[in-house]
Amino acid sequence: MNAYEFQPGPIHVLRLEEGMDLVDTVTGFATERGIRSAWLSYLGAVSRASLRYYDQVGHAYRDFTIDRHLEVLTGVGNVSLLDGVPFVHTHATFSDEHGNAFGGHVNRGCRVFSLEVNLQELVGDPPVRYHDPATGLNLWCLTPPGAAR
Ligand code: ZN
Repeated sequence: MNAYEFQPGPIHVLRLEEGMDLVDTVTGFATERGIRSAWLSYLGAVSRASLRYYDQVGHAYRDFTIDRHLEVLTGVGNVSLLDGVPFVHTHATFSDEHGNAFGGHVNRGCRVFSLEVNLQELVGDPPVRYHDPATGLNLWCLTPPGAAR
């Protein structure tokens, strides 16, 4: 297990506008502000959801798109470093006009209708993602693979 300790930093409240890409916009904000570590939550609506599901046996993402108007019931995620730059990892639950819910790992291509984002900046050494061969994912790791322990 990796455990990190932070002090709370500034809270950024963002309103994303129609047509913006959810992941690209939040990543761009974090990059522009030099935010290397944060926790985020959001709600609102999208006109298209672009999602991923990770196949734990095949170690591959399966991408899918839901090209319709959806509520964003809840989104949660974080910002950490991957290859030295801010990386946004986020999952969300959506619903359709009948209240049916579905969700997944939010991919680029998720088109915002309107979105309210709460981004809590964290002050401290940022978690860094490294490729984990056991899962095939880029996971937080205090000690890089191959480093002396
Ligand atoms: Zn994910």
